[in-house]
Amino acid sequence: MNFFDKMHELTGVSLNEVQQKAVRYSKGPLLLLASPGSGKTTTLNMKIGYLLLVKKVPAYKILAITFSKASAVDMANRFDQFFSSIIKERVHFSTIHSIAFQIVREYFSIHHQNFEIIEGNRNSCIDKKVILRNIFIQNRNTIPSEDEMDELLSYSSFVKNKMISDEELVQKKTMMPGLVEMYKQYEAYKVQTPELVLLDFDDMLTYCYKALSEDEYIRNKYQQRFEYILTDESQDNSVIQHEIIYLLAAPQFNVCVVADDDQSIFKWRGADVRKLLDFKKIYPNAKTVTMAQNYRSTPEIVDTANEFIKRNRNRYPKKMFTENESSGEIEIHNVKRYDLQLNYVVEEIQKADNPCEVAILYRNNNSAILLVNKLFKEGIPFYMKDVELKFFHHWIVEDILNIMRLSYNDSRVDILEKVYTKINAYIKKKQIIHLQKHVSKASTFDRLQEIIHAPYQEQVLKRVKQTIRKLQMQEPYEAIQTIRQDLGYDKSLQNTAEHLRMNEENLFDILNTLEQIAKELPSLETFAYRLKDIEQLMRTSKKYKGQDVITLSTLHSAKGLEYDRVYMIDLIEGILPNNEDIKEDEVGNIEEMEEATRLFYVGMTRARHHLELLTYSVRNGAHVKESRFVQNVRKIIAPEENQKQIGKKNTTQPKYRPILENAITDESELHLGMQIIHHLYGVGQIKSLAPDSIEIDFESVGMKRFMLDFCLNHGYLKKI
Ligand code: ATP
Ligand code: MG
Repeated sequence: MNFFDKMHELTGVSLNEVQQKAVRYSKGPLLLLASPGSGKTTTLNMKIGYLLLVKKVPAYKILAITFSKASAVDMANRFDQFFSSIIKERVHFSTIHSIAFQIVREYFSIHHQNFEIIEGNRNSCIDKKVILRNIFIQNRNTIPSEDEMDELLSYSSFVKNKMISDEELVQKKTMMPGLVEMYKQYEAYKVQTPELVLLDFDDMLTYCYKALSEDEYIRNKYQQRFEYILTDESQDNSVIQHEIIYLLAAPQFNVCVVADDDQSIFKWRGADVRKLLDFKKIYPNAKTVTMAQNYRSTPEIVDTANEFIKRNRNRYPKKMFTENESSGEIEIHNVKRYDLQLNYVVEEIQKADNPCEVAILYRNNNSAILLVNKLFKEGIPFYMKDVELKFFHHWIVEDILNIMRLSYNDSRVDILEKVYTKINAYIKKKQIIHLQKHVSKASTFDRLQEIIHAPYQEQVLKRVKQTIRKLQMQEPYEAIQTIRQDLGYDKSLQNTAEHLRMNEENLFDILNTLEQIAKELPSLETFAYRLKDIEQLMRTSKKYKGQDVITLSTLHSAKGLEYDRVYMIDLIEGILPNNEDIKEDEVGNIEEMEEATRLFYVGMTRARHHLELLTYSVRNGAHVKESRFVQNVRKIIAPEENQKQIGKKNTTQPKYRPILENAITDESELHLGMQIIHHLYGVGQIKSLAPDSIEIDFESVGMKRFMLDFCLNHGYLKKI
């Protein structure tokens, strides 16, 4: 029985002719440039099996490279699914960084030099971020904002990965003043002591390239060691990674490069598809194979994705087709509000027979927080592909929790010290120092009264003390509103954003997310515990890997994977595409928008049978626009007359129990000047009415503003 028949019997997959050709082509360079779901990864795995079983190549001579540790594991698993019963040898599935590290270690040892890794290394007291931060401070006499730190970090990584020379660096325009100079200082800093070279992750690639280019012993050793090299998802290899693969593969160049330029989504990390498009120039005897049949998805998904990707101008024209059976149209749901999207997704998950075949995909990690909150409430387990917990330790989250803590015990100087500049109480640094010097169990606000000189501060401190003490009696949602409005936290945040040149929208999004979590929780303690619960749940979600639970993933991390049902969420302008993509596009630079388009395309093509695109028109009380990508898909799948119906189907309505009996639930029952009763503040008069907010002048507390939807849904208002 030949290899392919045997494989069919063993795995159930019968490779088509082109795939078989690619498997058999084992001498010399091969580029497999093909559409999603066309079996690139399958072919690559089969090729490894073929080399082992038919060509009798020992496993240690084969190097299979993927773009991340997680995908190396995924790929090894897929290989094992095929071959574990007949191949016992271990094949080397590796990231390029891990192979580079091996080579760099040897290089430094041969050259009797010490090195220290300064990124992600807990044992090192030297840290890349700290070095860059200090360099920024020295150059600009100010502390870098988070955005500036991000820009510094990604710039230094980009320059290395793109192999931009010093001469080119000077010519390139940068957004941040002094960026090139700071980058150069950083590079110099790492090699200032010849006995100890400091290396970040990107240096691992630079030194690996150096070792392979300059050290003949190392080059020969590794070229002989790896007789066959295969790389999956190569559209996302950076320039230096392509160069390293070239050097490792020389001189016989038994290299199989698998890629899809339409799925290139890591341009910001230095990926460059030109290296694929110039493949024949780089490897003169190269063979290129393309594959058009999609084995993954329904004709509806394949056809729509084909049309959708035509948005992009910079691409190689490709068209996939499928012989798979149809299973219904792609669904687009424009639910009215953000929270309805969560309700909808959860209902869908609950209906799923096979949770492990369901994936929820999103552009930003932040999208996961409220989703996890919802899953927590419903007791639905999930597996999360890339866990990012920064949110829970963000200073805004800490601030809100600290102000809430003060409400229970306002004698804590250590807590007041962290927030005194943000609560509009005119407290001075020297007043805090005074409090610190004298230990006392009394209220810090009362103690401050004893040392203030300005009469206005007396009133202010009284008010702030009362407002903070009152917080513990409020529901956490109300408490956050009080902090934001009555204690002036929003204003202070605005000032901070302006002063430190931070993205104000992102900061307010954190507050809004906290508010959403707070909704429906009865007390400040439950709110603090809920944050801990969400964090813990996310942290431990890895334990569900491989089990029958749903998957949550960013679009980036879903690359290469497939699920029966895929829900892409938060598809609004400002998220996908994001504001940066839109801004660049508006000034005629289409690169970012094209990358966002590819990301959307990657998402769509993860689905086997069922794909849903979810969007909404109100988020945090403000109107938002549905993503232009959703509109594109709408146009592709729905003739004009059907457009209105799509999205109406299955739209869920909120299911809260109204707080007040006979509560007003419809906007049309409200009008300006009307007297109403609010469940907390009592009688008041409506002073303004907007689509998303309502302002009421209360007899008890004066003017207050609320989210209209929220009041109506929860039944907070009723007629007098
Ligand atoms: P992506 O671009 O998303 O990484 P891919 O090109 O790597 O996709 P695979 O993941 O290898 O595609 O394959 C997609 C699906 O098609 C898998 O479920 C795989 O088992 C199946 N498949 C691939 N080739 C064949 C074939 N010849 N016959 C039947 N099924 C196939
Ligand atoms: Mg693949």
